[in-house]
Amino acid sequence: MPVPLLDVNAQNHPLREELLRTFERVLGHGRFILGEEVERFEEMMVVATEARHAIGVSSGTDALILALLAAGIGPGDEVICPAFTFFATAGAVVRVGATPVFADVCPVCFNLDPAAARRAVTAKTRAILPVHLFGQAADMQAIMAVANENGLVVIEDAAQSIGARTRGRAVGTIGGFGAFSFFPSKNLGGFGDSGLLTTMDDDLAAKARRLRVHGMEPKYYHHEVGGNFRMDALQAALLAVKAPHEPAYRAARRAHAARYLKILGAHPAVAVANPLDCRCLSAQDERLSAGGTLLVLPNPYPHNEAVWNQFTLRVTGGGRDSLLKHLQCEGIGCEIYYPVPLHHQKCFADLPKSSRPPCPVAERLASEVLSLPVYPEMSESQQDEVIGSVTRWLERAAR
Ligand SMILES: *Cc1c(COP(=O)(O)O)cnc(C)c1O
Repeated sequence: MPVPLLDVNAQNHPLREELLRTFERVLGHGRFILGEEVERFEEMMVVATEARHAIGVSSGTDALILALLAAGIGPGDEVICPAFTFFATAGAVVRVGATPVFADVCPVCFNLDPAAARRAVTAKTRAILPVHLFGQAADMQAIMAVANENGLVVIEDAAQSIGARTRGRAVGTIGGFGAFSFFPSKNLGGFGDSGLLTTMDDDLAAKARRLRVHGMEPKYYHHEVGGNFRMDALQAALLAVKAPHEPAYRAARRAHAARYLKILGAHPAVAVANPLDCRCLSAQDERLSAGGTLLVLPNPYPHNEAVWNQFTLRVTGGGRDSLLKHLQCEGIGCEIYYPVPLHHQKCFADLPKSSRPPCPVAERLASEVLSLPVYPEMSESQQDEVIGSVTRWLERAAR
C-alpha cells in the first residue's frame, strides 16, 4: 500500500460542508480583499500564536519581507540567517536589498547555531533571522542574547512551526517579529498562498499594516513605499474553518513522531539524536560509526515542544540516496528537505565570500537528511508500512 508524504485531501474533505458554506458566504458579500473576514481570522491568530498583533498577509515569504521592511532593513545592511533552511528565508533578505550572511547550524536540532551567529556579526549587521525548522524552535535564549548584546532585530521564521514552544514561550513572540506560512504543506495549511506576521510591538504593527497596503494611510496618502502584501478574504475565511482543528492536527503529528521514535528507535542500527551532541559533529561521528549506526532519528530538546512539520532523519555513512530510492520503489512518500545548503546556491555565488563561510554541518545535513510522512491523517497501518519499508532497508544495509 503506497503512503504519500502528505495528503491534503484527507485533512480538508472532512470539512467539505463547512468550507462550501464559507465560500458561499464570501461569494455572497463580495468583499474579497482584507475586510472583516481577515480581521476575524487575525483575532483567532492572536489567540493561537499568543502574539499581541497578528497581521494576515499574502504568503510566508511576504511576511518575512514585510518584517524586514518594517524594521527598516535595506541596502548596506547584513542579516544573519542559517545556511540550512528553505530558500525564502534568505531570498526575502535579498528582496529588500540587504545582504544575507550565512551561519552554520546545529547537527541535533538543525537550527541556527548561536555561536556561529555571534561570529558572523559585523558593524553592518542589523538583524538575525533564525528559522524554527521542521517544527522545532531554534535556541532563542542564546540568539536573543547575541541580538541584545549587538542591538540587532530578531525576525523569527516560524513558517513551519505554528504552535511550537521553547522554554514555555510560543515561537513568533520572542523576537521582534514572527513570520508564519499557510502554504498547504504547513501545519495549518490553506487553499493557496497566505501567511501571517506577528509582533508584540504596537508601533511596528501599525507600520507593517501600512506597508501591507503600499504604505498608505489614509486612502491614497503614501508615507513610504510598501507593497501589496494583502491577504484574501476567502483565504482567511477558509483558514478560520481549519484553525480550531490545528491543535488536534499537531497532537496527531506528535503521536506519529513518538511512534516512529519508539519502534524505529529500537532497531540496533538506529540512534536517536542526542542533545549532548549539540554543535559537535565530530564527537557524534565517532560514537555513531563505532556503534554501527545507519540512521539518526530527530529528537527535540527537552525544553522544546516541537510540532513536527517534518520527521527528518539523518542517514549517516553515505546511504541517504539508497534509502530514498528504496522508499520510492516501495511507494513510500519521502523528500529531501533540503538538498543544497543556501551558501552553495548558484544565485548567491556573487555574494561576498564573508557572507558564505564554510558551514560544515549544513553541508553534511544536505547530504544526509530525509523526511518521512508524519501528516496528521496517516493511519497506524500506513505508519507500519513506512516503518516496515525502512526496516527492510536497514536489514539489507546492515549486511
Ligand atoms: C514555507 C516556508 C517559507 C515561505 O512561506 P510561503 O508561504 O511559501 O511563502 C519561509 N520559510 C520557511 C522555513 C518555510 O518553510
